[in-house]
This record gives sequence, C-alpha cells and structure tokens, in this order.
Amino acid sequence: MKKLFAVLGDPIGHSMSPIMLNDILSFYEIDAHYHPFLVRRDELETAVKGLKAIGISGFNITIPHKSTIIPFLDEIDELALSIGAVNTVVNENGKFVGYNTDGYGFIKGLNPYMSSFYDKKVLVIGAGGAARAIYFTMAKMKPLAIDIANRTVLKAQELIESCPYESNSKALSLEEAELYLNEYDVVIQTTMIGMYPKISEMPISLKLLKSQSLVCDIIYNPLETQFLMEARQKGATVQNGIEMFVYQGALAFEKWTGIFPDVKRMRENVLQQLGGVKC
Ligand code: NAP
Repeated sequence: MKKLFAVLGDPIGHSMSPIMLNDILSFYEIDAHYHPFLVRRDELETAVKGLKAIGISGFNITIPHKSTIIPFLDEIDELALSIGAVNTVVNENGKFVGYNTDGYGFIKGLNPYMSSFYDKKVLVIGAGGAARAIYFTMAKMKPLAIDIANRTVLKAQELIESCPYESNSKALSLEEAELYLNEYDVVIQTTMIGMYPKISEMPISLKLLKSQSLVCDIIYNPLETQFLMEARQKGATVQNGIEMFVYQGALAFEKWTGIFPDVKRMRENVLQQLGGVKC
C-alpha cells in the first residue's frame, strides 16, 4: 500500500518540502506521497489524531506548530525535548515519536567547511526558534565558545540558561556583537533581518569581521542577503540557508526510510523552486 508522509503548518502553501520530498521519494522508487496540510492552531490535536488513525508513516511540522505539537506525541527525543520544538515525527510501530532535525541539518550543511568546533569561537545572532535549535545542537559539540547576540538580550540569556549542555557562552547586545566581531571564527545569522522584501537590512555591521571567518545566514530568500554579500566582500567563506533547509529535510527522510538521500538533487530541486520567487 502507498505510504503517506506530510507537512502540517499554517500557512503551508509556500512550503518547498512537498516538491523536494516527492521528487526524492520517486527517485528512490519508494511508493509514497508527501502532502502539505493546512492545520489551524485549534485543530492541531484533531489533525494528529486523524493522522494516527489513518496510519501515516511520518510527517514534518512547521510554523506555528513546532512547540505546540509536543503534548500530542507519544515520545520526544532528548534533543527535541530540550529545544522544545519538533519538526519531524516518525510513526514507530504506532507510536508518534518527535525529533528536531533543524540543528543537525544546519551543522551537516557546514561539513564541507568545518566538521569540528572544539577550537572555534561561534557567534549566533538571534535568539528565536531557529537559533535555539542551532545553539543547542552546537553546544552538544562543545565549541571553544558559543555566544548569542540578540536585540532582546534577556532572551539570549534565557536561551543560554535553558540549555542542558554545558557551554562557554555569553549573552550580548547587537552593539556588543559588532564591537567584538573580530573574535569569532563562525558567525551565524538567524534573525529574519535581510529577508525579502527588506533585503537591504542587516542585523549588525560587519566592519570588524575577520576575513578568515565562516559566515552563515539561514535566510534563503534572497539567496545572498546583504549580510552574506558584505561578509563575502570581506573575504569570509559564506553559506546561505539552503543547506540547512535541504539537510533538515534529508535527515527527516533518513528517519522515515533509512536512506540518507542525494542532497545534491534536493538542493537543485529547491533552487529550481526558488527560481519562481524574487531572489
Ligand atoms: P523567531 O523565533 O520569530 O525569532 C526571530 C529572531 O529575530 C529573534 O531573535 C528576534 O529578536 C529577531 N528579530 C526580529 N525582528 C528583529 C529586528 N527588527 N531587529 C533585530 N532583531 C530582530 O523566528 P525563527 O523561527 O527563529 O526564524 C528566523 C529566520 O530563520 C526566518 O527568516 C526564517 O525564515 C529562517 N529559518 C530558516 C530555516 C532554514 O531551514 N534555512 C529554518 C528555520 C528558520 P527578539 O528576540 O529581540 O524579538
């Protein structure tokens, strides 16, 4: 019987996951379909019960349900529980088990440039949901230091304090981050500043950026934000948000099928889809 996979969110029409994952399912000749479902906040519990009743094989969760889904699942993996957000659910013998592949997706995307962080000082800009997944996952990998700069410094402080993995971390204001920027080997921009249509905005100035640094922006529309463009012009190695998106999907696919998929194919698929939006 054909298997069903899905993504639940609101809004959901813009999601690039269905085209990317249906393509990769058919590439591996898996008899399955991945479907986007628009699920309103007050209908999440009913939707999850419905998916269980029909025996769905697995699904992704996107905004605004990544945290609110937790009480409706049977088990949550340790990292997802500590992050407080689930983006992937696997039906394991009738039990819905929640995982978070966002942080590992981000880190796997960095592999071509960097696979260990023990001697690296990392700066995360932003303290929202994406920053939380990246910070917690990275803290597990024990970088030399991992600081968080945020408009609301208190939120950065709370994020650090809520992390169960010991780390050498400070909460900074955006102004402090600008001032100490030359200390960091890796800079990760996780706010929505610079996203289409406000493409000329930057969360901090890069005046003091080290030219040997690795600079990532998890935004993928535009493909090159002003932040990444300026970092590249300063000689830094840069990476946009496509890699995180593709790898979080690849890791979800692996959890559902046991196959780590062809990420090159997935990346090309996403870039093709983005060709349809203003980049
Ligand atoms: P979120 O939870 O709402 O967090 C937003 C962050 O942006 C907070 O740190 C917030 O600071 C900061 N911020 C918002 N407006 C700001 C402003 N005007 N000036 C300075 N800081 C501001 O959002 P999220 O879910 O983490 O998503 C953030 C971005 O990541 C979005 O662009 C999203 O598309 C992207 N994303 C990409 C991927 C991927 O796969 N590539 C995955 C997830 C998310 P305060 O705390 O001070 O409000």
